[in-house]
Amino acid sequence: MKRHLRHAGLLSATLLIAGAIVSGASGSLQSPEQFLGFKVGADNKLVRWDKVVEYMKLAAAGSDRVRYRELGKTSGGNPFIALEISAPDTLKNLDRYKQMERKLYFQGGAPSDSERDEIFRQGKVVLLITCSIHATEIGATQMSVELVHRLATEDSPEVKKILDNVIFVLVPSLNPDGEILVTDWFNKNVGTPYEASPIPYLYHPYVGHDNNRDMYMFTQKESEYTAQLLWHDWFPSVWLDEHQQGSNGARIFVMPATDPINVNVHPLIYRWNGILGQSQAAALEAAGKEGIIYNATYTNFWEGAMAWSGWWHNQIGLLTEVASARIAAPIDQQRAGSGRGAQRGAFLVGLAVIALAVHQQVKADDAYLAGAYDDSDVVAAIVPIGSCVVFDQPDRVLLANRFTSARSGCPPVTDPYGSYLAADPADPPPRQKLPPPAAYVEQWRGYFDASDFVVLGVPFSSYLPWTSELEAYFTARFQLVYNTSRTYVYVHAR
Ligand SMILES: [Zn+2]
Repeated sequence: MKRHLRHAGLLSATLLIAGAIVSGASGSLQSPEQFLGFKVGADNKLVRWDKVVEYMKLAAAGSDRVRYRELGKTSGGNPFIALEISAPDTLKNLDRYKQMERKLYFQGGAPSDSERDEIFRQGKVVLLITCSIHATEIGATQMSVELVHRLATEDSPEVKKILDNVIFVLVPSLNPDGEILVTDWFNKNVGTPYEASPIPYLYHPYVGHDNNRDMYMFTQKESEYTAQLLWHDWFPSVWLDEHQQGSNGARIFVMPATDPINVNVHPLIYRWNGILGQSQAAALEAAGKEGIIYNATYTNFWEGAMAWSGWWHNQIGLLTEVASARIAAPIDQQRAGSGRGAQRGAFLVGLAVIALAVHQQVKADDAYLAGAYDDSDVVAAIVPIGSCVVFDQPDRVLLANRFTSARSGCPPVTDPYGSYLAADPADPPPRQKLPPPAAYVEQWRGYFDASDFVVLGVPFSSYLPWTSELEAYFTARFQLVYNTSRTYVYVHAR
C-alpha cells in the first residue's frame, strides 16, 4: 500500500505532554494561517525564523497568557527567544513562582517544612520544551507557532486546566541561525530535484550537529541562554527536547531509552522519564497513531545531550524523535510486506511533531512491532482461529486464549516455566538443569502432539524441557513457517 503523506495537520507530542488540547475558541490573535498565508505544515512551506519571532511577539501582545522574552542574540546575531505561557494570574506573579522553584531546588538551602508545604500547595509544574536544536529537524519549530496560538486563544477546559497548573516555558528554536539557513536553502531549491538536498554548510556556525552536546561546557551562546532558563531562572521539573530521526525508522521515539542506566542518576528520574514518555505513547495510541517505539535506539547511559543533561540536576528530561519528511517536501513510503527479510518501509512523516498527525508504518516483523509486546497481528494472519496452539512463554497466553478457546481438545494454555516449578516446588529448576523430569518431557510431547501450531519466543530454549529425544520428535513433525527475531511459528506437518 502506497501512501502519500503530508506534513499537514498538527497533533504534537508537545501538546500531549502538556495535556490534551481541543480545537475551537478564538481571540484577537490572528491564526498562524491568517498570519502566514499558509497552514503550518503545508507541503513545501516553512515558517522562517523572523516570522516565528514576529508571530510570538504578536501572541504576547494579543494574549495575557503569553510572555515574550529575548534572552540575547545568537552566534549569528538573531534573537534567541523564550515564551512563558500560563494563566494570566500566574504570569502576573512570576517572581513569586520563581522563588518557589528556587526553594524546591534547594537554592539558598533546604526549604523549611512550612516553605515546603507552601510549594506543594501553591507551586506550579514548570515545563520547558526546546525545539529543533538540530536545524534540519525543523518540524518542532514550525509546530511551536501553532501551539502558541492554541494556548493563547483556546478556552476549552483542557487548555484552562493546563494554564492553571503549569508554567510552560517554550523555546521555539535552540538554533535560530540554523533554522534560517535550512529554510533559505530549502526555499531556494524547492520545486527542483535538489529541494531536499543537504545544506552545504554547518547549521551552526561553530559546532554543527554537536550543538546539543554543550550542556557541560557552555561554549556557545545558545547553550548559555538555555542554562540561564534552566538553572538560573526556572529550574523546570520537566524538560522535553524535540528532535527528528530521519524517514527510515519508526514514527516516533518516546522515553524510556535503553538500558543500562547510569547509577549516578536518581532512580526516580528514570522512573518519571518512563511514566511521562509512556503517557505520550498512550495518548497517541488512544488517538489511533502507530509506529511508536521506546526502549530503543537511544541510550539511558549517555547523558551528554540537552534534556538528558537535566537528569544530573534532578530534572525529568525527555526526548522525542519523530520521523522526517524531506525538510518540508512530502515523501512517499512503501508499506513493506511482512516476513523475514522484508524491507523496512518507514512511512513518512510530516514535519517533526506534525508527523504525529499522519499515519506511519514500518516493516512488519521488527520495527513495526517494536512498540508492541507481542506479534499478535502477524501470528493471527498465519494461524487460523480455532487452531490448537502451543506457546513457550507466558506472554503468549493472551494469544493462546484467543485461539484455543474456540476448540476443545487443545493442549492447556500454560506457563511452561511456571508449571515446571509447580511440578516440584521443592526442587526448582535451574534452567540448565538436565535432564528434566521424564514426566514433564512427556507432558510436552503430548502438547505438541495435540497442537496444530507451535509458537516459540526462542527456539529450543530452556523455557521448555528439551531433551535430544524431544527435540528430534519436534523437528521431525514441525516445520518453521514464519519467524522474526522473537517469534517462531511452526506448523504441525501431520
Ligand atoms: Zn536531533
